[in-house]
Amino acid sequence: MVSKQTKGRRFPLLPLRGLLVYPSMVLHLDVGREKSVKALEKAMVEDNLILLCSQSEVNIEEPGQDDIFRVGTVANVRQMLKLPNGTIRVLVEGVERAEIIHYTDNEEFYEVMARELPEQPDDDPESDALMRTVLSQFEHYITLSKKVTPETLAAVSDIEEPGRLADVITSHLVLKIKDKQEILETIDVRKRLEKLLDILGNEREVLELERKINQRVKKQMEKTQKEYYLREQMKAIQKELGDKEGRAGEAEELRAQAEEKDLPERVKEKIDKEIDRLEKMPASSAEGGVIRNYVEMLLSLPWNDWTEDDLDIAKAEQVLDEDHYGLDKPKERVLEYLAVQKLVKSLKGPILCLVGPPGVGKTSLARSIARSLNRKFVRISLGGVRDEAEIRGHRRTYVGAMPGRIIQGMKTAGSLNPVFLLDEIDKMASDFRGDPSAALLEVLDPEQNNTFSDHFVEIPFDLSNVMFVTTANAVHNIPRPLLDRMEMLYIPGYTELEKLQIASRYLLPKQKKNHGLEDGQLVIEEGTLLSVIREYTRESGVRNLEQQVAALCRKAAKQIVSGEKETVSISPGDIKDYLGTAKYRYGMVELEDQIGTVTGLAWTEVGGDTLLIEVTVLPGSGKLILTGQLGDVMKESAQAAFSYTRSKAEEFGIPSDFYEKNDIHIHIPEGAIPKDGPSAGITIATALVSALTKRQVSKDVAMTGEITLRGRVLPIGGLKEKSLAAHRAGYKKILLPKDNERDLKEIPESVKNDVEFVPVSHMDQVLHHALVAKIADQAVQSLQ
Ligand code: ADP
Repeated sequence: MVSKQTKGRRFPLLPLRGLLVYPSMVLHLDVGREKSVKALEKAMVEDNLILLCSQSEVNIEEPGQDDIFRVGTVANVRQMLKLPNGTIRVLVEGVERAEIIHYTDNEEFYEVMARELPEQPDDDPESDALMRTVLSQFEHYITLSKKVTPETLAAVSDIEEPGRLADVITSHLVLKIKDKQEILETIDVRKRLEKLLDILGNEREVLELERKINQRVKKQMEKTQKEYYLREQMKAIQKELGDKEGRAGEAEELRAQAEEKDLPERVKEKIDKEIDRLEKMPASSAEGGVIRNYVEMLLSLPWNDWTEDDLDIAKAEQVLDEDHYGLDKPKERVLEYLAVQKLVKSLKGPILCLVGPPGVGKTSLARSIARSLNRKFVRISLGGVRDEAEIRGHRRTYVGAMPGRIIQGMKTAGSLNPVFLLDEIDKMASDFRGDPSAALLEVLDPEQNNTFSDHFVEIPFDLSNVMFVTTANAVHNIPRPLLDRMEMLYIPGYTELEKLQIASRYLLPKQKKNHGLEDGQLVIEEGTLLSVIREYTRESGVRNLEQQVAALCRKAAKQIVSGEKETVSISPGDIKDYLGTAKYRYGMVELEDQIGTVTGLAWTEVGGDTLLIEVTVLPGSGKLILTGQLGDVMKESAQAAFSYTRSKAEEFGIPSDFYEKNDIHIHIPEGAIPKDGPSAGITIATALVSALTKRQVSKDVAMTGEITLRGRVLPIGGLKEKSLAAHRAGYKKILLPKDNERDLKEIPESVKNDVEFVPVSHMDQVLHHALVAKIADQAVQSLQ
């Protein structure tokens, strides 16, 4: 506590900067300021005593009275030494506290009147207790702070006067001048100790915190250092093992590749992370290979690659015509589609689904669409796909995991906007491994497919700019939700005339080019192509035809190369030499009218076909035998035809109990092929009537139609395909349900010219047109 007494004596004053001297402290001071030097000199000439007071601010060169604390320490100047740089080094010893009363008028140096504040003796046991606490706290402080040596503790423990103890300990602490001054100004010894305890407590907390922070930093440092060290070691080991590059080289290479590509941020981040992982793998680890594989896959995908669209409709039309004969309807629809896209400036219309038998040009039409748009083309086949993972990929954790077919297709395309053909969408199956059609639905949904997720790739991929085109042989096998997303474009199959055109204008020139034959080197007459179509192929499309034409070209090329001939000309008579004997007899038509044998027409996924139905009546006990792999619907249809025949037995002159004494066998040859559907109803009924009445059926007639129990004829599907098949087989008359009459406009003129189409609404009409011969009376008798 500072007293207000005015009594005192005169002292020269030395203001201290950033430093404070307590009584009983001995220390060196370097004095440079002129006024301070003068004060020292004054002290030296008198009693060596000088007052040392601290400045409140370190950097004030010429402090005023207010800048100097009023309480300081009177010190004895023991030694003075002039240093070469002009400053003076003095050794001072603190004697006791003193308080400035007032400054005297002295221009040369600071001079003050000050009152000494001698230390009060204190023997209170409470002070002893305080001293001990202070000492133990100080000990704790020393263990935390590395700035005070343990020897200091030993020296301090010997001090007996409580006031001095407080002063000495404070002088060892790293404190602000303000705090140190406070201790100096506290004259009451017990209060001084208490204050010191406070300060020590505070300092301890701060030091604890500091220690914690340091430990954390150190740990972090150690970890990075350790990793660095280990990585260097790994490199050294890899080098020793002769693995020159190691994973580090691999990682570098991948990083460089990633740098070159224009990748979206999220992909880049993922790749960086994976490369970092790869780097840490030993060169021999299998997982390293998996990571590398993954990164390479990501790098190979077109994240940001585009092709420029060419939406010139006239050019597109030209391209489609260049590649395909006929197909007017599908071509027209494709052009409309493109026109709309041009107007709305995006390709987000419905998904086109090309439906038709094999070999009618579905794939090649899709390829043409890509060419006309100047887009890349990819095709994947969905035939037999039964696992969702084939569409969406396997998770990377599986051994040998791969991305799904969609992503692989995108990789092949190398652009974000290819024409993507999903072939045979009707041949997809689903089983316990998940439903691929659900995954496909996501692929085709414009709302979802901008973030298509493949299990392998993990990062969502944008499919929204892809133009998807699908193909199918038949619509009824396509899962309903998929069907709803698509617009069907039917390509029904070609007539003989169309095939002839396709062969001579497209397939032949194409194959000639493929086989390196010049224009004049191979001449195939038109009649030859027709024979090939009729006798070497039997199909709705032109795939086999193309193969046969290719075979002709191949053989001709061989003859020319071997020097056997210079130019090859193939007439109908020569075909056997090139393609072997004919595979099919042109015209399936029987050579004579038959009893119990009638030609029906069928429509399968591979196009239309003729279907021979045979009925034999055997003595027996009324069994109806059906053979030839008939499906349930066809069996029921046979039952209906049989019931109809029974109900009309009397009218036809058949004994009414014929079915009790005979077995009726209905057989449809080519038993290996499953057959189904109701459209053979009238054919079976005709065959039954013919067999039972022994009346012949005209060999030129083919027919199709469902039958009711009363003999009405109901409509059927696929008339065009069926008609083409009948025409192909050489039939002259086709009986069709009256309700299908409107479908006749779809039938090509060339077919209508050769074949007579007869619409019928009742079995009576069917029998009228089909049966030729009179009832062989004796034969009917023999049934009885
Ligand atoms: P799909 O995919 O329907 O099974 P493709 O597209 O594989 O049939 O066709 C088989 C071959 O027939 C291809 O070489 C194709 O170019 C050719 N082709 C099919 N239809 C036509 C056509 N209308 N004009 C020209 N070539 C055709």
